[in-house]
Amino acid sequence: MTPVRTRFAPSPTGYLHLGGARTALFNWLFARQHGGTFVLRVEDTDDKRNKEEAFAAIYEGMQWMGIDWDEGFEKGGDFGPYNQSERHDLYLKWFEKLEADGRVYQEDDGAWRFRFERKEVTLTDLVCGEITIDYKNEEINPDMTVRRPDGSFTFHFVNVVDDLEMQISHVIRGEDHLMNTPKHLQLYEAFGVEPPQFAHIPLILNDSGKKMSKRDEGAAVKDYQELGFVPEAMTNFVALLGWNPKTEQEIFTAEELIAAFNLSHINRAPARFDLKKALWMNQQYTLELSADEFYESASPYLEAAGLPMSHPNMRAAVEAVQEKVNCFDDVEGAISFLFEDDISYDDEAVTKVMKNENVPALLAALKEDWTNLENWEEAKDQIGITAKAAGSKPGQLMFPTRVALSGLGGGIDLGLIIHLMGQENCVNRLEHFLTVQA
Ligand code: GLU
Repeated sequence: MTPVRTRFAPSPTGYLHLGGARTALFNWLFARQHGGTFVLRVEDTDDKRNKEEAFAAIYEGMQWMGIDWDEGFEKGGDFGPYNQSERHDLYLKWFEKLEADGRVYQEDDGAWRFRFERKEVTLTDLVCGEITIDYKNEEINPDMTVRRPDGSFTFHFVNVVDDLEMQISHVIRGEDHLMNTPKHLQLYEAFGVEPPQFAHIPLILNDSGKKMSKRDEGAAVKDYQELGFVPEAMTNFVALLGWNPKTEQEIFTAEELIAAFNLSHINRAPARFDLKKALWMNQQYTLELSADEFYESASPYLEAAGLPMSHPNMRAAVEAVQEKVNCFDDVEGAISFLFEDDISYDDEAVTKVMKNENVPALLAALKEDWTNLENWEEAKDQIGITAKAAGSKPGQLMFPTRVALSGLGGGIDLGLIIHLMGQENCVNRLEHFLTVQA
């Protein structure tokens, strides 16, 4: 058996998109499952300027997701260099073989074309099955350019040379390359080299059913870092884009993914991207964190938002929202009302509150009763007492009180809000609400 060697070969585009992350992940899972080697190669064919920075976004995204590579970029290995821009001599070597065999010819403009064999070529793809291209008709499938007039080599040529030189055993890549592959098979045959196995993975569609693009929300791995995803949740979510274990299981550790991953369970149909599903997935992970882990992970987001981290109530507030949010970036919005003098009100929540015309009177009565309350521990019970005294149900005053105190329609337990805010702040918030909203 040839050893399993897979690779991820991104161009330095400045960002790691979801499709790229998935390609990297599937190659990584497959290599790990087979005790093989995962290579990170840089397809920096054109202009080298600014490429380092543009590539950083890609490998940093991979590192965040826990996709480590054994060979290639910065790691080195026996098959380097791993940047296409440094592999010109190798390309030349294989080009000269084609030239010696009479498989390339030069056009008037100086470009070199590779002479296809005029026959049928069948690709047996591990996901897509058999694809046959008939090269007999030169009009439909004209010979392909492999070298440009300036001496540089084209994508198809370098891609094949790199894969064969790096002894890649399985090429797992996006379906956008499916129709390129018969061309690649022609090159492998001309080189006299056994081709790798191919697995083309389906497109990712956005929620309107179109091919996901750079502009779509959630298109870049960085978006999830900014939202505050647990990296393991991201990996889990990406793994399920187009692959499923054919069981009900949805939550997988990396080890479980490595064990369960199977190229034959990759769907043929496009994968549907669903941000809500991603957030749900992430919540499954945030719920599993210990209170300490949750606090540690949320802290950088809160600090960045300027919240007073040394405030005595900070820890309690963060703990109180662990079950309420689905990413770290949401924590700030759920607790900031406790630490800021200004309050902003959620319009929807206010509208709901003001539907009941008794609310201003109820809140005014509560303000009065809370001002006079001697034992603040009884403040929550007082809401029910005040409501009843005014002939209303306790529930009719609970929600308005929550909105008046926090500006929000949900979140931290009301009793805890009252406790953390204290008497003076609570009374002031009711007053403020009555002034600006009622
Ligand atoms: N640089 C190519 C891409 O990003 C790689 C194609 C391949 O994996 O063979 O589409």
